[in-house]
Amino acid sequence: MTFRIGQGTDIHRLVEGRKLILGGVEIPWEKGLLGHSDADVVCHALSNALLGAIGEGDIGQHFPDSDPRYKGATSTTLLQVVMALVKARGYRVGNADLTILAEKPKLAPYKEEMRRNLAAVLEVEPTAVNIKATTGEKMGFVGREEGMMAEAVVLLEKQ
Ligand code: MG
Repeated sequence: MTFRIGQGTDIHRLVEGRKLILGGVEIPWEKGLLGHSDADVVCHALSNALLGAIGEGDIGQHFPDSDPRYKGATSTTLLQVVMALVKARGYRVGNADLTILAEKPKLAPYKEEMRRNLAAVLEVEPTAVNIKATTGEKMGFVGREEGMMAEAVVLLEKQ
């Protein structure tokens, strides 16, 4: 068995007039994340972790902001494109562990749905995807509710 590990981080600015979408779940909130796509910071961090594990750079290279094809793109779809690359290299996902940094809203009610969404795209059991959330303790850009950040670590396996 061959193993590869990957890490991903993403940050997006919080603004009024945008939907808040995290891990493919639309969360009712007064602000949303700003970006060229749906700005799903969770899917972006996970996509970067997968690309890192197969040595394929980052999502900025694969889905440039300048490309109109990705305007308003659903990030679970981008994650599917990345997963196709992973599978083309002969790898499958062992597990993924994610942390979301957000001051508000409370994410606990949505974590299970995010986990199921991501597990479906990664083609693993939901127990192989773990989602954690933390606040910024009112400090920094997270704490001031200026933005959200997500971090992901993923393990890939090949027979
Ligand atoms: Mg992003």
